[in-house]
Order: sequence, then structure tokens, then C-alpha cells
Amino acid sequence: MQRMGKVFLVGAGPGDPRLLTLRGRELLGRADVVLYDALVHPELLDFAQAGAELSFVGKRGGQPSARQTRINQRMINDARAGKIVVRLKGGDPLLFARGTEEIRVLRAAKVPFEVVPGVTSPSAAAAYAGIAPSHRSISSSVAYITATESPEKDASAHDWSKLAMGAQTLVIFMGMRKLESLAALLIAHGRPETSPAAIVQWASLPKQRSLVAPLSEIAELARAEGLTSPALFVVGEVVALRDELRWFDTLPLFGQRVLVTRPRHQARSFSQRLREAGAESVELPSIRIVDPAEPERLSRAAQELGSYDAVLFTSANGVTRFLDAIGKDGGDARRFGHALVAAIGPQTAAALRERGIEADVVPSEYRGEAAAEAVLSALSARGTAKARVLLPRAEVAREVLPERLREAGHQVDVVPAYRTLPPDEVMRDELRRLCAEGGVDVVTFTSSSTVSQLFETLGDDAASLLSKVTLASIGPITTATAERLGLTVAVTATEYTTEGLAQALEAHYGAASHESE
Ligand code: SAH
Repeated sequence: MQRMGKVFLVGAGPGDPRLLTLRGRELLGRADVVLYDALVHPELLDFAQAGAELSFVGKRGGQPSARQTRINQRMINDARAGKIVVRLKGGDPLLFARGTEEIRVLRAAKVPFEVVPGVTSPSAAAAYAGIAPSHRSISSSVAYITATESPEKDASAHDWSKLAMGAQTLVIFMGMRKLESLAALLIAHGRPETSPAAIVQWASLPKQRSLVAPLSEIAELARAEGLTSPALFVVGEVVALRDELRWFDTLPLFGQRVLVTRPRHQARSFSQRLREAGAESVELPSIRIVDPAEPERLSRAAQELGSYDAVLFTSANGVTRFLDAIGKDGGDARRFGHALVAAIGPQTAAALRERGIEADVVPSEYRGEAAAEAVLSALSARGTAKARVLLPRAEVAREVLPERLREAGHQVDVVPAYRTLPPDEVMRDELRRLCAEGGVDVVTFTSSSTVSQLFETLGDDAASLLSKVTLASIGPITTATAERLGLTVAVTATEYTTEGLAQALEAHYGAASHESE
């Protein structure tokens, strides 16, 4: 007989993918099948192993009970086929989430199961919107109430005459379609019209929105502001603590959706930095880094490294590609021997450090001319008059650096280490959609090539599409490239690094809060 699998009911947390538990992450990495709901953040699926079956089983219209039957059947069949099934649910799997029903079905089918708790949406509203459910002197009791009850139940099991005043803080789930009647019921059963009330939508995500108003006014204001599901409706004196507790929606880039146009493996740290400042980073590489047209030239340079007096790197990609080429040839960092190693820019230096190499020269200015001067003076300090210089870099790049070195009498071998390619069709469509439909507020350019690639990708109406968003650039050269294409760049970093770019964006948007109250 087939070995029995297992079903894990895992809480995905309230929204922000980083709020998944370690146990949840571990199980996602082991799952053969992941069945996930609508409120589960898509990034969580990145934790699944390659080849895992990822299945959306959330609402898509249709009969909820038929859908639930299909989910139940699927869990049972997959577990019986020996598979590890992760049933991923928003927030906690046992809080207003049919977790209990699913467990009953599994138990009846003798399928082993385990439950992994998740951060609930009220916890997220407390932490990220400052709507804490309790406070020693203001509220010592909290009621969780769902406004949408089981359709199998009679009209309403809630006894509002008791619930309205039964706890000092009321947290109402799934109530956005009934706000008027909920508020009216609460007032009719004794809550003062002036009771502080709040709505928190998309808690913990950069698109979080909050509204605070007296109970009698909140429904109308929520409509006016367009607040909809998923949101929590909280009533109680604790709402007044929000101004003291909030920190998330006052971050400098809160609510901004920022397009990061770097190759995916480099986008990570920049995205993370933007998120720390409250932004939603939309990672979409506008270029792809691939092998150069003649990879054998790079291999040869890696083999002959010993014959060079200096090696200059102008990008982190150049470092990675060249060190990989050395590795493929069975070598390591010792091949650099006594050669002078220069890194143009702190990020290039960091990439070298990651591979165990401390650059001898890191010019304080990263532009071609100034960088060339720094390298030249380092060479002359070593007394190397006619140096053999290796420059592994992008196939197409600015010529200033090699030209200046040659003028000074050195011999420079420029060896293409990688090529930047335009994005494929999928990315193309996605990019157009993001820019055209207001999917992003800010587009960042981290090099001249990201500008020209994006411009080309967007096609004829590139200029008009990009005029709808705020353009931010890593430095004056990149900005000049954009301006030559007729674009208006609103933000140019004064320190030419992604950190500098993040800081420039923060300064541009200031500490203004993007609040709906
Ligand atoms: N199991 C979930 C609740 C599921 S019921 C939990 O533990 O939180 C679905 C309801 O939860 C939504 O209608 C909304 O009221 C609330 N909800 C879920 N995620 C939310 C979020 N990020 N922000 C605000 N409310 C949320």
C-alpha cells in the first residue's frame, strides 16, 4: 500500500510575507502540494520547492460549499497518494477560516494532519496600524466577531444586545458590506454614537489603509474613502491610542509602489531597503544578464590572470562573472597574486569582499573620469609605468575608463564578462501594464542601460507612459541618459549607490503620511 502523506494547515499570516512562521516556511519548502487562499501573499510561494504543485483554491465566484468539497477531496487524495500537502490560509488557520471543518474531514478520512498557527489580522492591525485591542486602563476585554456567519446557520446567531456592550473592544471581521447596519446595531444596543471606531484594510502591507472616526460616522466615511474588504472594523476606546502607537504608515515611503529595474538577483537588497522605508517594491528586471557573445575570452582572461598588473572591476556583475570563470577553471582568488585590484563603486567593492578580495583602490567618485585618475595614481604609486590592465565588464559600456588608461601609456584588455539583454515578452507586457494602469508610483533607474532598455521595451509611447510616474535615478549620468530621451527625472541621488537612491527618495517624499483620516 502507498505510504500515507500528511496535511499541514499552515497560517500564512496577515499579509506581509515576512510574517510567516519559521515552521510554516520549513513546511512550504518540503511540500509536494500547496493549496492556497486569496489572502495569501504570492511571495510566500517562492518558499516552495521547485516542482511543487501550487494551486489557488480561493474564491472565484461559484458555490462556496462546492469549492470546499473540492478542497477537502483534493487534500485527502493527495495525502493518500503519499504527498505532503500544505493548506495555506490567511492569518491563522483556526480563526474564522474553516480550519476546523477541514480537520474534521481529514480526521474522518484518517489522514494525519498538523496545524501551524499564523499571525492573525487583528495582531497585524495592532502592530501596523496602532489599533491595539487592549490597554490596562482602557480595555480589559476583547471580542472577535464575524459579520459573515455560516450560511447553514439561522439568520444570525449573534445576540447584539449582549455583544454590543459585552466587551470593551469589539473586533469585527468580514463586515465591510454591512458597515451601516453593524454600526446602527451597535448604537441601538448601547454603544455611544461618539465611540471611537476604526477600519484597517490590508493590515501589514504597504497598501494598508486606516480610518478613524466616531461610530456614527464611520460607515459613510469608509464608503467615501473607498475602503473595502479585507478589513477589520474595531470599536472601542483603544482606537484613540493609534496616534501614539503608529509607526508603519508614517514611514517616509509608506504607500509608494516603486518599480525596481535591476536584474532580480541584485534587486533583492535594494527592494529590502525600500520596504524598510515603507514602500512596496515591485521587482521587475528591465534587463537580463547573460553570458557574453564570446565566453571563451573571459575564460582565457581568467587563466592568464597572472600576467596582468592590474584588474579593474566596474560592476558587481563583472566581479561575479569573472570570479566564476576563475572557479570553473579550477582556480581561486590566489590567481590575483600581486595584481592591483580596483573596484569602481562601493557595491563593486562589496561584491569583491564577498569573494574574499579586498580592493586596493575604491575611488571616492564613481564616474569614469575620476575613477580613471584614482587608478592611474595607484599604478604610479606602485611604480608601474606600462601596466597590463584587465577590465572584465559589460559587453557594451562607457569607454572613458579604458581610453584614459591607454592615453597614460598602459595596455588595457577589455574583456566582456556579460551581456545585458532586453526582457522577454512576458516582462514586456507586465511592464507596460504597470506603467499604463498606475501599477507603480515610482520608477527607479540604477544605470543608463536600465533607462534605455526600459524605454525600448515600452515602445512608441514610452515617454507618455513614463510621464505618468515619478522617475528616480541613481546619479547624473543616468539622469542625463533619461533626459536625452525626453524624460523628466524628479529625483537624482547625490550619492551614486542604491542606498543613495533610497535616501533621495525618502527626502523627496519626506515624512508625510499617506493617511486617509
Ligand atoms: N484567519 C484570518 C481571518 C480570516 S476571515 C485571520 O487570522 O486573521 C477574513 C477576514 O479577515 C477579512 O474579511 C478581514 O476582515 C480580515 N482580514 C484578513 N486579513 C486582513 C488584513 N491584512 N487586514 C485587515 N483585515 C484582514
